[in-house]
Amino acid sequence: MTAALPYPALHASHGGVWLREEGVTRPVGKGEAIMLAADTPLLLLNAPLVANRLGYPDLSGLDLLELYAFVHPARFVVPTPKGLAHALGLAEPADDAGVPALLHAAAAELIARCQRPDWPEREGAWSQLQSLARLRWAWAGVLAPAIERPQRAERWLFARLPEWEEAPERPQPAQIVLNEAEVARRLASLLDANAEERPGQRDYARGAAQVFSPRARNQVPHLLLAQAGTGVGKTLGYLAPASLWAEQSGGGMWVSTYTKALQRQLRRESARAFPPATDSKAPPRVVVRKGRENYLCLLNLEDALQGGFSGRAAILAQMVARWAGYSQDGDMIGGDLPGWLPTLFRQRGMTALTDRRGECVYAGCPHFRKCFIERSVRASASADLVIANHALVMINAARARDPANRPTRIVFDEGHHVFDAADSTFAAALTGAETIELRRWVIGPEAGKAKGRRRGLAARLADVASYDEDGARAIAQACEGAGALPGDGWLGRLNEGAPWGPLENLLAAVRALVHARDESGGQDAGYGLETEAAQLDGDFVELAGAAQAALEAIRSPLTRLGLRLEALLAEPPDWLDAAGRARIEGARGAIAWRCDLLAAWIALLARLGGPADPEFVDWLSVERSDGREWDIGIHRRWLDPMKPFARAVLEPAHGVMLTSATLTDGARTDAAAWEVAVTRSGAGHLGIAPARLAADSPFDYASQAEVLIVTDVPKGDVSSLAAAYGRLIEASGGGALGLFTAIRRLRAVHGRIADRLARSGLPLYAQHVDPIDTGTLVDIFRDDPRASLLGTDALRDGVDVPGHSLRLVVMEQVPWPKPSILHRARRLAGGGSAYDDRIIRARLAQAFGRLIRTAQDRGHFVVLSAAFPTRLLSAFPVGTPIRRVTLDEALQSVAGGVSATDEFGAATRLEADTP
Ligand code: SF4
Repeated sequence: MTAALPYPALHASHGGVWLREEGVTRPVGKGEAIMLAADTPLLLLNAPLVANRLGYPDLSGLDLLELYAFVHPARFVVPTPKGLAHALGLAEPADDAGVPALLHAAAAELIARCQRPDWPEREGAWSQLQSLARLRWAWAGVLAPAIERPQRAERWLFARLPEWEEAPERPQPAQIVLNEAEVARRLASLLDANAEERPGQRDYARGAAQVFSPRARNQVPHLLLAQAGTGVGKTLGYLAPASLWAEQSGGGMWVSTYTKALQRQLRRESARAFPPATDSKAPPRVVVRKGRENYLCLLNLEDALQGGFSGRAAILAQMVARWAGYSQDGDMIGGDLPGWLPTLFRQRGMTALTDRRGECVYAGCPHFRKCFIERSVRASASADLVIANHALVMINAARARDPANRPTRIVFDEGHHVFDAADSTFAAALTGAETIELRRWVIGPEAGKAKGRRRGLAARLADVASYDEDGARAIAQACEGAGALPGDGWLGRLNEGAPWGPLENLLAAVRALVHARDESGGQDAGYGLETEAAQLDGDFVELAGAAQAALEAIRSPLTRLGLRLEALLAEPPDWLDAAGRARIEGARGAIAWRCDLLAAWIALLARLGGPADPEFVDWLSVERSDGREWDIGIHRRWLDPMKPFARAVLEPAHGVMLTSATLTDGARTDAAAWEVAVTRSGAGHLGIAPARLAADSPFDYASQAEVLIVTDVPKGDVSSLAAAYGRLIEASGGGALGLFTAIRRLRAVHGRIADRLARSGLPLYAQHVDPIDTGTLVDIFRDDPRASLLGTDALRDGVDVPGHSLRLVVMEQVPWPKPSILHRARRLAGGGSAYDDRIIRARLAQAFGRLIRTAQDRGHFVVLSAAFPTRLLSAFPVGTPIRRVTLDEALQSVAGGVSATDEFGAATRLEADTP
């Protein structure tokens, strides 16, 4: 190990601030720390988080996380002192005061690793460091002596990345029926030799095998709804028949998830059912596929590296380039790019590194053959198992122009989210933010605002325009039409009462009407505002008509251009080589998507002047956060989004399974509860009765969990709420997940208790407070049994923390649905208060599901609500003890639970006693 660096090391938590200089650590005040940081480079861990703790947003320094990302790109680390210590094989600091010494040791260790001959990530490091030095990266000078100049010039990233291979078209799968005994044997072979016998899992696997059978009628898929309690082992339950079917039929199937956590788990577990081929050159059997906007676009990266970015964003681009050379699949969001890396750079430049705006030039791109997105698309066409997400499956089904690429056997895991995913996928939103995106896609960035290589349609299709007169005319007309869309500064113009063009005029009228009519009570709280699209006067309808005509003036030439491109592909000119063809095919797909978008907007505007369509819910909105307006527009949702889902996804499929622990109402399996699941599957729109399967959880909830409904925390009193949270977390010794329905209350509670808990050695993290992405917050929470985490909706369902780290869930109140215009319409159609109850039971069941993940888990589920209706109690698994108690009684139970005399509790007590 090299000698300690001559820089002071600073650590700040909610419990205090510590500084280490010349081998001595001492507590310091925030003021002293800030003054020192302004003068001297300091060693820090996670600068934005330290800045947040100090209340000094401009803090910068030598961040150990940046150093880690350079030395070990694409390697996982929990970004905490403990996590860093584990990743580097160093001793964990005993307390906050021990952290600065760890920072010195970690820096020395990381620098020493660069000097070792067997440093696995050496390739590219020297060259990248030279670029980072030019950008004045804080670590560049420190690392320079440690990284030896290679004897031969290093290949740059774009030369090092492998090319994807073109795969032959896949033949149709054989029509087979899986043999039950074989399915059972396959399942047994996937389980560990010492795994417990789980009859529920066997039945589940047998049921899942049905969806792979040949279908009897066109447009009538096998549809299975499988309610599987937590712990049934559903993943291997469906992967067993899926892997058998893939082997015997030669086909590929998709599993779709809603959360990234499950996607990661599936990637791990699928290796058992689909072991990688022994030939390392063979295409992968399992591919994770996400939307394009998740992946690094190499052309955008090249542009950023060559001067498109400046300042910290340019350093981030270098870090991303370093990672790209070692990444498994180029997935920047939820893949192997550390989730904390972009937040270190305050997300600057991240969006511009992906293909978020659909500006890909396909085969016209010099990196096409190495492109991560293209590789994932090709790999998924030949894979046996594609792991995707609900949104991508639906977009693919609705928009993919190549039916051969559509999956025909799909398992929707986390099936209770299919409704929400369909709701967003099949929605239309004509808003300022959406229209400006379209304008940029057609015309390109406005003069003087061009960042990087972004160009408009005319530049992207310049060769077509020079060859085809009609095509050139259509491009010119589309550009002229797009000039009427909102441009940069549109919100400012609306605020000043000086909108420009037909769309901005309409948006100004929308804004005025929403402010006039909104009665949600959100005005003072700074939340978004909305009003239904009803009783619109003649002036408004006239403005909508003008906007409609303006949109038509874009759609019509774009449609013609699409036809011209199709004609070019049908009768290709001499100059159109394979690469040009692929590029035009890509452009045709992108144009078709924009035409669909424009058609949806036009239909929405056309309805404003006429009678409402009962299939849709339309409303006007002003989006705000903390009182600041950031978007304005008109929205349309399907009253039942499972109708378009049934047509786009179910109808063309051969077999579909929806499975979840909370598919039915409150996870029950009586007839009424099943009716809910059937209605929400979309089966009714195809006139089919789905098969049903229920597998009960093997957990003994009567002894593993307890639900406590606290009756004496007054509603609306934030001080009492905060005190209750603080005392409950203390009673359990951390390990608490706190769920909120409002960000404002979450922040208020966190602000009141975080410091006190930290001084007791109980760190408290929070979504919407800590500058850390949600995935990393969960990693931190999982890694530290004394940590607690506060959050909102995303944590209610996306947290998989088995074991001791999660032993208490606290909900601040009954999770009532937000009374939005959309909710009101669906409530009316769905049975009034019974509809609300179903939503609440589902939310309670999902939140409760976080608590007990294995047969060894124990824990309490606490709801701080005196008025918790008895009819909602069926949300909890049968047999779970439920008590209405005072806060003091709840504290006794929670404290008793963590100091129980069982093996698990004894371990807890020991940890709690350790200083
Ligand atoms: S092919 Fe498209 S997405 Fe891929 S690197 Fe090139 S421009 Fe980016």
